[in-house]
Amino acid sequence: MNEQQLLAFDHQHIWHPYSSIYSDMPLYAVESADGVKITLKNGQTLIDGMSSWWAALHGYNHPRLNAAAQNQLARMSHIMFGGFTHAPAVELAQLLVKVLPSGLDKIFFADSGSVAVEVAMKMAIQYQYAKGELQRQKFATVRSGYHGDTWNAMSVCDPTTGMHHLFHHSLPVQYFLPQPSVTFNEPWDERAIVPLANLLQTHHQEIAALILEPIVQGAGGMYFYSPEYLVKAQELCQKYGVLLIFDEIATGFGRTGKLFAAEYAGIAPDIMCIGKALTGGYLTLAASITTETIAEVICSGEAKCFMHGPTFMANPLACAIAAESVRLLLESPWQARVRHIENVLHQQLSPLAEKHYVKEVRVLGAIGVVEMRNEVNMKTLVPRFVENGVWIRPFGKLVYVMPPFIIQDEELTQLTEGMMNALRQEYEQ
Ligand SMILES: *Cc1c(COP(=O)(O)O)cnc(C)c1O
Repeated sequence: MNEQQLLAFDHQHIWHPYSSIYSDMPLYAVESADGVKITLKNGQTLIDGMSSWWAALHGYNHPRLNAAAQNQLARMSHIMFGGFTHAPAVELAQLLVKVLPSGLDKIFFADSGSVAVEVAMKMAIQYQYAKGELQRQKFATVRSGYHGDTWNAMSVCDPTTGMHHLFHHSLPVQYFLPQPSVTFNEPWDERAIVPLANLLQTHHQEIAALILEPIVQGAGGMYFYSPEYLVKAQELCQKYGVLLIFDEIATGFGRTGKLFAAEYAGIAPDIMCIGKALTGGYLTLAASITTETIAEVICSGEAKCFMHGPTFMANPLACAIAAESVRLLLESPWQARVRHIENVLHQQLSPLAEKHYVKEVRVLGAIGVVEMRNEVNMKTLVPRFVENGVWIRPFGKLVYVMPPFIIQDEELTQLTEGMMNALRQEYEQ
């Protein structure tokens, strides 16, 4: 199929993320991807600034991940997890237990991030139910969060960007706190935790858990906040019998400069969700992990078990690749690389802060964010990025890059220059 045929059929029949089936948004056919280079069907190559939405840490077409996939494929691609186990799941679990914040060692493998969030929320409800806390049915969270697109995950997404008004009558109503007001680099201010303290004091009897993206709010605002907020939130949760869920689906596996963002606060939540980079961007796999204490309570309840079990649970192919991806990460000098990317992004993107169309530039780990004054025009801006040889997909007012960790200096400079050129063409000509 040539490029035209491909795009034409797609246009008639296939949905894309958050899109209209009648979309006239730019769409590109990809031929292949290798390292940090994406090759389009028309022959053009782009430097990848997105890691396919936080996932492709090691770049594309990695020989070791390919080999892990091929080796597993020759044994079995999938087998049901009811009544069976297998080496890929066990080896991956062994690796995870070693690196996850301490105490988190009961792993539920789910098939996507959103499902992992649903699973975490179900765990919290079953836990409270087993404790006889039948009225604890609600969740608390902060504004500007993003936790996925399925029903209950959506209920804890930011009510505005999560389009709660559209689903107003069918979504569970949760408690929303202001976005943590102290940013990552600011000194802590006790007033930032007052809204949570007040909420829990008044409503803790109804709240099963507090769910947060630690340190970095991703798709809801690309915002970095103080680790102290997490420390205080945990103290309050413990005081009021509310579980603490960390959604590390975006932040996990080194992106923020720590293996898990929770490490900035030096705490472990009661339940943690991971996904996205878990397989190095190869296949869909996620997990919800909890502690012995929580697991014990859940399994002592009326149901005597945890009530969830996806068809493709712990898919061996995904687990085998994930295990290799985690090994690859741990063997690499990822921390130094992420710090280096952070420094380069900081250095190269900071001048943008002077531009009249830019509100703020912020960088943490291998994440560089340019917050614009106004919403960008995707229809004109994305093609400009592509013309400049970079793959960057903004949303709303946010233009951001989070490249694979393996990116070389020259490519990183191409990425930031491509970004700045495109912005200049869009806003200065
Ligand atoms: C992407 C994301 C999810 C949802 O994961 P999917 O695999 O897209 O379902 C949930 N939480 C956070 C923080 C995410 O970034």
